[in-house]
Amino acid sequence: MAPVDILVIGGGPAGAYSAAVLSREGFNVSLIEKEHFPWYHIGESMLPSIRPFYNFIDAEEKLVKHGFAASGKTKVAP
Ligand SMILES: Cc1cc2nc3c(=O)[nH]c(=O)nc-3n(C[C@H](O)[C@H](O)[C@H](O)COP(=O)(O)OP(=O)(O)OC[C@H]3O[C@@H](n4cnc5c(N)ncnc54)[C@H](O)[C@@H]3O)c2cc1C
Repeated sequence: MAPVDILVIGGGPAGAYSAAVLSREGFNVSLIEKEHFPWYHIGESMLPSIRPFYNFIDAEEKLVKHGFAASGKTKVAP
């Protein structure tokens, strides 16, 4: 097993995103999460302004393909 450069504790949005970016930058990252995925978690919306961040980690296409309902009241960020 390769030595770990960075240990991220918590696989919520902040930890998961940080681990993804740091890993892409070439660090050997380990993430530990105390819960087992998937777990029941309330949340129903995301701001369009988050899309560039998904794009940055090459996850936007996966997000779009998942087919989440888009609110007609919001505009999608370019
Ligand atoms: C009821 C509710 C509804 C919400 N709805 C929305 C919504 O619709 N849209 C939206 O954008 N935001 C929503 N939010 C806000 C959103 O959930 C938070 O902003 C977001 O989860 C914060 O991410 P985080 O990674 O900082 O923390 P968290 O999501 O809290 O992640 C922290 C993680 O660390 C793990 N952890 C904690 N301690 C340890 C440990 N000792 N060892 C290992 N792992 C550990 C936890 O299990 C957890 O998975 C909602 C929040 C609540 C409470």
